[in-house]
Amino acid sequence: MAITESVRSDARSDDEARVLELCGRLLTERPPGRTSPVELLGHQFDLGLAWVHFPEGHGGLGLSPKLQKLINETLAKAGAPRAGGLNPIGHGMGAPTIVTHGSEAQKQRYLRPLFTNEEIWCQLFSEPGAGSDVAGLSSRAVCDGDEWVVNGQKVWTTLAHVARWGMLVARTDPDAPKHKGLTYFVVDMHAPGVEVRPLFQITGEAEFNEVYFTDVRIPDAERLGDVGEGWRVSLTTLMNERVAIGGQIPPRGSGFVGALMKTYAATGPHDQATRDRVMRLWVRAEVLRLTNIRASHNRAQGTPGPEGSIGKLAMADVHKDVSECAVDLLGAAGTLFPAGYPMARPQTTALWDNPQQAFLRARANSIEGGTTEIMKNILGERVLGLPGDIRVDKDRPWVEVPRS
Ligand SMILES: Cc1cc2nc3c(=O)[nH]c(=O)nc-3n(C[C@H](O)[C@H](O)[C@H](O)COP(=O)(O)OP(=O)(O)OC[C@H]3O[C@@H](n4cnc5c(N)ncnc54)[C@H](O)[C@@H]3O)c2cc1C
Repeated sequence: MAITESVRSDARSDDEARVLELCGRLLTERPPGRTSPVELLGHQFDLGLAWVHFPEGHGGLGLSPKLQKLINETLAKAGAPRAGGLNPIGHGMGAPTIVTHGSEAQKQRYLRPLFTNEEIWCQLFSEPGAGSDVAGLSSRAVCDGDEWVVNGQKVWTTLAHVARWGMLVARTDPDAPKHKGLTYFVVDMHAPGVEVRPLFQITGEAEFNEVYFTDVRIPDAERLGDVGEGWRVSLTTLMNERVAIGGQIPPRGSGFVGALMKTYAATGPHDQATRDRVMRLWVRAEVLRLTNIRASHNRAQGTPGPEGSIGKLAMADVHKDVSECAVDLLGAAGTLFPAGYPMARPQTTALWDNPQQAFLRARANSIEGGTTEIMKNILGERVLGLPGDIRVDKDRPWVEVPRS
């Protein structure tokens, strides 16, 4: 036992030494500050430091995902750019889906420009009649030779207005039960027939969009996974989405709760009850952070498990309560929206420039990436083993299920 442990820890040290040496090489060959972000990130990808658990040649080294934290911290300390900020959907969901289900050609084509943020990605799952029940979606893809012809409407599509590629799930067999008649595609967002229209949120910004598909042609080579296997591929995207949204591990006391502490300091002195409220929120944020660290350590390679739903569920509540407290601390000024009502089209998501904006944006946290109720269903069924939700349409052909 002791020998096995020592072999394991030696192996870990070797891997750590290897990635640290490669980080040193990256920083020497492409010094931050004198290298453009795209060039530096491209070299990071080529050295296998993009997603260290991905295979060699695809941005990784086939090592434990735990090492990524070490890489990210080492590079951040040296002033290297953070990879995911501009392309949250590509990094959070696109990359793991492509590496798990993509062909060799798709991995070669998509992963590098995704990592360098030269190509932004969006997720085309939700429809006006299919959000929580995304497997019930209606957008159709019909095979025509070696192409597919897509018609339908998607909604709430974050960053579709800047996206080059979309992860699209469409119905290819309406006679099969809903989960079995779906197929997953990579769609060119610049293709003829793709129309993107803004949807403005409560913050006055349009991070997300409606997307209309009218006779959009997708080459069969851009199918991700087999025909009819779209649900299985989608699960990889959805499981990773929960972790991307709720699994963040910021440094202790930073992020949302760090902003609250700044507002607290700027608006004092406060009474004991307010101090108690802020302290309790700080503790909840820290518990969430530690829970996410534990979940990330439990995660082996590949798709995260249902534990990702815990972070997503807790994050939504903590964010809402923290941002509400910050607005309360501001008193009457909390009712003013400092940026005006910009009707802007942001280039990225979830901007927290001031407490008022954070307060409004956080309302969406319990909806996006799966609602709080759906997270509870997942945890109840898959972690606690409780009886499943009632699903009357599960085995019926999709075409026979009544819908509005
Ligand atoms: C900011 C933001 C960004 C988003 N970005 C994207 C994106 O990029 N791509 C994309 O595809 N989608 C995106 N979405 C859509 C999001 O995934 C859906 O809004 C979400 O899944 C809920 O679907 P819905 O809005 O249709 O609500 P519905 O599914 O109609 O749900 C309505 C209410 O019913 C509850 N409910 C539904 N089913 C059950 C059940 N079985 N048990 C208990 N309660 C239930 C829900 O919890 C909710 O409270 C985004 C949403 C937001 C808010």
